[in-house]
Amino acid sequence: MENGKRKLVFATNNQHKLEEARAILGDKFEVVSLSEIGCHDDIPETADTLEGNALIKARWIKERYGFDCFADDTGLMVEALDGAPGVYSARYAGEHCSFADNVNKMLREMAGKENRKAYFATVVALILNGETYTFEGKVDGEISVEPLGEGGFGYDPIFIAEETGRSFAEMSPEEKNAISHRGRAMRKLEDFLIAEN
Ligand code: IMP
Repeated sequence: MENGKRKLVFATNNQHKLEEARAILGDKFEVVSLSEIGCHDDIPETADTLEGNALIKARWIKERYGFDCFADDTGLMVEALDGAPGVYSARYAGEHCSFADNVNKMLREMAGKENRKAYFATVVALILNGETYTFEGKVDGEISVEPLGEGGFGYDPIFIAEETGRSFAEMSPEEKNAISHRGRAMRKLEDFLIAEN
């Protein structure tokens, strides 16, 4: 406990995800990253579902570092690509590819396609007092024909949210968090943690 806030390890070193989590949970919880607990492991994400990968990450930290924690896994599901890249969204353009590589590959694959419907889904896995819980979030939208906006990360410049008609990269962090897949899953996590306290 610091400043009266309960400490919660978030099994990520993605600075963008940390900022999103702190914006949602930060008033009541101290959200701690993996590097802050001395973990620099490259955690294998070998499951073929978002839930499976989120659980792998959360269990990895609990088993090796002893902390109760939560982890997320996210996928971008594109209708015209039969749901791809889905659970493989991080390595869509290949092992060790950049965000820009993934965005460019998506724009190439979608060139000329009329159906541009897509959604982001996140599963958050929580391990707390020996129990495991999962929380889901989803947001509908479509893939743009070119990158739009400078904010966010990952596929944000090419994902136009149905609710706003703008790309996530064109929105403020607050706007994105209010409707995003991760924002929705994390608010469910927050409600659960508050009820547990
Ligand atoms: P993971 O949850 O970190 O495995 O994310 C899978 C892939 O989706 C990575 O390429 C991320 O960059 C991307 N991704 C995850 N969350 C978001 C988001 O909120 N916006 C855009 N891309 C995301």
